[in-house]
Amino acid sequence: MTQPKIVILGGGFAGLFTALEVAGSANVTLVTDDDHFLFTPMLYEYLSGEVEAWHIAPKYSELLDDNVRCVQNAAAAVDLNAQTISLEGSSEILNYDILVLATGGVSNYAGVEGAQEHSLPFRKLAHADNLRSRMVAALDRIPPDMPPQDVRRELTFVVVGAGASGCELSTKMADLLKDAFQRRALQGTPRVLVVEMGDRVVPGMGEQIRAFVDDALRESDVEVHTQTRVVRVTPDEVTLEHQGNRETLKNAGVVWVGGVKMSSLIEKLDVQKDRRGTLIVDGSLQLPQHNNVFALGDIAVYPDADPTLPGTAQLAFQEAKLAGDNIKAFLEGKELRTKHFAELGEALSLGTERAAVLTGGKAFGGALARQARFALYTSRLPTWHHRLRVGASWFLGGTEVRPLLPLGLER
Ligand SMILES: Cc1cc2nc3c(=O)[nH]c(=O)nc-3n(C[C@H](O)[C@H](O)[C@H](O)COP(=O)(O)OP(=O)(O)OC[C@H]3O[C@@H](n4cnc5c(N)ncnc54)[C@H](O)[C@@H]3O)c2cc1C
Repeated sequence: MTQPKIVILGGGFAGLFTALEVAGSANVTLVTDDDHFLFTPMLYEYLSGEVEAWHIAPKYSELLDDNVRCVQNAAAAVDLNAQTISLEGSSEILNYDILVLATGGVSNYAGVEGAQEHSLPFRKLAHADNLRSRMVAALDRIPPDMPPQDVRRELTFVVVGAGASGCELSTKMADLLKDAFQRRALQGTPRVLVVEMGDRVVPGMGEQIRAFVDDALRESDVEVHTQTRVVRVTPDEVTLEHQGNRETLKNAGVVWVGGVKMSSLIEKLDVQKDRRGTLIVDGSLQLPQHNNVFALGDIAVYPDADPTLPGTAQLAFQEAKLAGDNIKAFLEGKELRTKHFAELGEALSLGTERAAVLTGGKAFGGALARQARFALYTSRLPTWHHRLRVGASWFLGGTEVRPLLPLGLER
């Protein structure tokens, strides 16, 4: 008897963890455009060298057994009526009985002039590599006798968006740059700005954790510009608007972490969506008009989740378990379940020395929170085998920062 075909599009928190849940229960294919999973919450530690690529970006070939076929390619189009997927640059057409849509979001530049062309995204390993190279190149251009005010202008970096990502990234960058200043005996200080349209940092988070974030931004000397919009980005300048006044700053890099939107693959689907274009799913994660299609993670709006959860890995990760159970129930003709998804807590990396963790309604910070975050995230990595290897490496080998060394000495 031929097994039913499950095709999963996207190998992030939603797609990979669903694949691990359903592996062995049917003919499972994972289509994903990278050769590795990425544990995004630790991309900041990858930037600073506290973790290595293999820790947070294990290859699918190491995570999946032979019972999941991994197709490394981008899905180009989905035909929900014919139940087929076409792939970029390939004539292969994949047929499915059950489809899982889990392709995540893409950077949202919100139509700001020059933002897509001239700012750096921060969603992939390669983006962190590019940003690190940009920081090293900027430092390498500074002669030791350059006056402090010129150094400050040449070493200005702008992070757009003061959600968790913007605060984690800006504190990490500021700490790395300050450390490099000392090592290279440069005069003055670097300048890192975080720019936010709203009136506060980490707008989606509670007051307890915000207090730690505010402290960390201050301690790392990050300049916070709330109620400020980026209106234009050029190769070396950014224009900010605050209360009707515009200011143009020369800078060495603008990093865009100002939100996500749907990819063109999802935009092209003619199904029910909310006003942001996110797919509406019912409580079992199925599309209302196509009960053999499940959608989860950043591309789906789930009807019963705590308000802080949309757009987070912790929601995608929890949904994957429900998707896996429901797909197996669907194949066996059993009733599908729904679930309420609750906030599991928050853990933010704040610079190279500290973090903030909110768990059981209580927040704590500092170096202890940094250790707790490493321990917590070890348990969230995919597969027991990978968790054990990474846990041993962090426990025995440590998680030291890799300083921003001159280009020839970087590895
Ligand atoms: C830097 C950063 C830090 C973050 N930190 C946290 C955090 O601390 N806590 C938290 O809860 N959340 C965090 N998030 C958010 C979290 O990463 C997302 O909510 C989560 O990854 C969503 O999971 P997903 O599977 O829907 O999408 P993703 O994890 O983005 O996975 C989608 C996958 O699909 C692939 N793909 C896309 N299009 C196609 C296609 N056409 N064909 C094939 N494959 C495709 C992508 O390459 C990707 O591998 C962070 C995000 C970023 C960028």
